[in-house]
Amino acid sequence: MSSPSIVWLRDDLRLADNPALRAAIDRDEPIVVLYVLDEESPGIRPFGGAARWWLHHSLASLSGRLHDLGATLTLRRGPAERVVREAVADTGASAVFWNRRYGGAERDIDAALKTSLRDDGLEIASFAGSLLHEPWTVKTGSGTHFSVFTPFWRACLALPAPRAPLPAPRSLNGLSPGPASDDLDDWDLLPTRPDWAGGLRDTWEPGEPAARARLRSFLHDDIGTYDRARDEPSAGATSLLSPRLRWGELSPFTVWHEAVDAHGAAGFLSELGWREFAWHTVFHSPDLATVNLRRQFDAFPWPPLDPAQLAAWQRGATGIPLVDAGMRELWHTGFMHNRVRMVTASFLVKNLLIDWRRGEEWFWDTLVDADGASNPFNWQWVAGSGADAAPYFRVFNPDLQAKKFDPHGLYISEWAADAPTEPIVDLAATRKAALAAYDVVKRSSPAPS
Ligand SMILES: Cc1cc2nc3c(=O)[nH]c(=O)nc-3n(C[C@H](O)[C@H](O)[C@H](O)COP(=O)(O)OP(=O)(O)OC[C@H]3O[C@@H](n4cnc5c(N)ncnc54)[C@H](O)[C@@H]3O)c2cc1C
Repeated sequence: MSSPSIVWLRDDLRLADNPALRAAIDRDEPIVVLYVLDEESPGIRPFGGAARWWLHHSLASLSGRLHDLGATLTLRRGPAERVVREAVADTGASAVFWNRRYGGAERDIDAALKTSLRDDGLEIASFAGSLLHEPWTVKTGSGTHFSVFTPFWRACLALPAPRAPLPAPRSLNGLSPGPASDDLDDWDLLPTRPDWAGGLRDTWEPGEPAARARLRSFLHDDIGTYDRARDEPSAGATSLLSPRLRWGELSPFTVWHEAVDAHGAAGFLSELGWREFAWHTVFHSPDLATVNLRRQFDAFPWPPLDPAQLAAWQRGATGIPLVDAGMRELWHTGFMHNRVRMVTASFLVKNLLIDWRRGEEWFWDTLVDADGASNPFNWQWVAGSGADAAPYFRVFNPDLQAKKFDPHGLYISEWAADAPTEPIVDLAATRKAALAAYDVVKRSSPAPS
């Protein structure tokens, strides 16, 4: 009698450097690779539209690769605790392995499953696959977590170097016949009415092979100019690896080890550090997407929402060229350059005085790399309410940002050539109003957290 091992994949849609998959291979029993679409468990945030598109294609790619190696991908939908237990019952599995996740609701689910399956006598193990350093291992001298990036990253660099990545398997002993699986198409992850994903299709090829190819071409062609050109949205100087890391088509260990010896790697690797810092922050503040990290910001006097202004921002119709270019790039491709993300976010929060949470929600729905840490973390960073945040009174002027980072207007003409030219707000007057609102925060005493 075989006693299969289940590998429960989540944000790690890859074969290479997958410690949970490796543990199952080493156990030498038939393997069931399971993905659960869980939009129901308490606290789980359903994926946005662009993320669903990416997930569909990444799962399709993974399924094909598993098939080539001798295994299948089992798809199930529903609350993970129930569905994983059902998969155990259906297959007679005696072990379940997964790579850890760090959001609050996800950790609760995983901890409950670990306990209950162990109580049932199964072998359960979880592994570090998605972050270079487990959030609880990076501590200040007094044993607390970090709230400022520079000492956080210094502390990470002082830890033992990230482990070497594990090789991809050459073949797999899949359980045959595999357990019943949903049909990916039945999950309706792709938009149909209307099909707005043409720009995403033109821009991206989800899946591990394309992710590895992108890493190689970035390291070969672009990393040398990264530090100099990374802030210029038309330069194409950044790695475009964020969706790959978000879905785990590449592990940060692979990226780290392949990049570390390259000329100019330090700046690039410190950006991976910001990703680590965002998860470190969420691990210690799981409500980051909804609650101001600096509770003084609870006193911010947000005016009533003007839906027309929010819609103009979402559609890239503000009349501010760099903002409109960024919002149109986002809508078309599911991605926006980091500098422009900062400018568009600042414009929403400071010139339109719209709560950062509305912007975070829009990015959540439209970014292919939207994740539960980097998105709220960066929104709070821009708003001034977050960890190591930009001070609120530093209001980006989008026109000056355009002069500095898009001096020849290449990015703006690519994305916003036909955008309206009449600004919906006056930048100087709204800047003044933002600073007056911020005065209210400064005068308020911090609420107990
Ligand atoms: C308002 C706002 C929202 C954002 N939302 C997200 C999000 O949902 N998901 C996301 O991955 N990034 C987010 N970012 C961070 C950043 O814009 C993207 O990671 C970056 O633009 C991705 O492009 P790249 O892969 O070419 O980056 P590169 O410059 O090549 O950086 C390499 C990697 O480092 C990480 N990284 C870089 N900058 C940051 C950062 N500021 N915070 C966290 N990780 C970083 C990413 O994983 C990225 O792939 C947001 C930034 C802002 C200002």
